[in-house]
Amino acid sequence: MGDRTLTNEAYSRYPLVENRAQAAIMAYVHAEARPVSKAQLTGSLNVSRGKISTEVARLIEAGLLADEGFAVSEGGRRSSLLGIPFSAGLIAAIDVGATSIDVALTTLGSKLVAHRGEPADVRDGPRPVLDRVKALLGELLEEQASLPQDVLAIGIGVPGPVEQASGRLTVPPLMPSWDRFPIRDAFAGEYAAPVFVDNDVNIMALGEHWGGVAKGIDDIIFVKVGTGIGSGIIIGGRLHRGAQGCAGDFGHICVDSVGPLCTCGNTGCLEAVAAAPAIVLATETCTREGQSASLMAVLQEKGELSMKDVGEAAKHGDYCALTIIRKSGRMIGETLASAVNVLNPSMIVIGGGVSRVGHTLLAEIRSAVYQRSLPLATRNLPIVLSELENDAGLVGASVMAADGVLAHDGN
Ligand SMILES: [Zn+2]
Repeated sequence: MGDRTLTNEAYSRYPLVENRAQAAIMAYVHAEARPVSKAQLTGSLNVSRGKISTEVARLIEAGLLADEGFAVSEGGRRSSLLGIPFSAGLIAAIDVGATSIDVALTTLGSKLVAHRGEPADVRDGPRPVLDRVKALLGELLEEQASLPQDVLAIGIGVPGPVEQASGRLTVPPLMPSWDRFPIRDAFAGEYAAPVFVDNDVNIMALGEHWGGVAKGIDDIIFVKVGTGIGSGIIIGGRLHRGAQGCAGDFGHICVDSVGPLCTCGNTGCLEAVAAAPAIVLATETCTREGQSASLMAVLQEKGELSMKDVGEAAKHGDYCALTIIRKSGRMIGETLASAVNVLNPSMIVIGGGVSRVGHTLLAEIRSAVYQRSLPLATRNLPIVLSELENDAGLVGASVMAADGVLAHDGN
């Protein structure tokens, strides 16, 4: 695998851009996600036409930009379109979930080119999980021998609070054995590329904002409902991480002070009453009380229910499944209403495994938010499902890594 990764010599390519103007040009082209003209760059960036021409020429020489055809003629002149070429190098995008890992290769322009995933238990600890991540990444690079082999940056999302300064998880409820583990260093032996780490919901929000249903919308709350509940907040087009990096930790808002114990040690958190494990447990109880013949058959056969079983039952109109999913949606919606009053977003996106149970959850979240938020805040507030679904995290991990490696560090 050694020949497929960056050599120390190649590492001298960093920083990839030479100055702030180049960083601004690359950020613009990356954000557009389609070829742009020099006129667009001049019109959108606070940089003179001459400077744009000079820096674009240098970026083409460095292999970070390439001509990609011509724009429709403007006043008789054809202007060439610029894009991030396939040959610029690769980003490794990694999405570690509570119960799965997904690894992808993308272009520097964050287009997915290869993807592999498998079930995993994050509680096994950082070493075995990251060893599997690295094995999958190695296999993808091995398989894609025709691709440029430079991994320019690694972006990784993990299901817990990440301290931004160090890139380390800090007292993560779902994965206690990862506390303070140096994730960035885990790749240092094999990949001489910078590693960017963030919370999984933050990267999903980035992905959805870059290339999903929230593209072009600058104020959004992305809510993930899965094994846990979290949110990623984008304000003014930028991810809002807060002072330490844990902004949007929505699942640990208290909704019932005498409620069940949460993985975080507190009682009655939203996550403890409305995330997948709580939904499954409540549905099992309802089933055992004799309210669902169809789920009783599944329960007797397997000894337990899964979120998938509950989702399937809900789609077929099962009383237990529907009642409990509605209750979960209502609690999520009521909590979200407070966030809407505080942040006044222009869109709410719901993603994560539980969001795929059908329309019931979304309908209930919508009705609770519209009922509980200020009328002005909900006047034009679409509440929609994630468009990228499973890919949101991978796309967002790539966007985070590309943004990071294309930024100019000021030196
Ligand atoms: Zn909690």
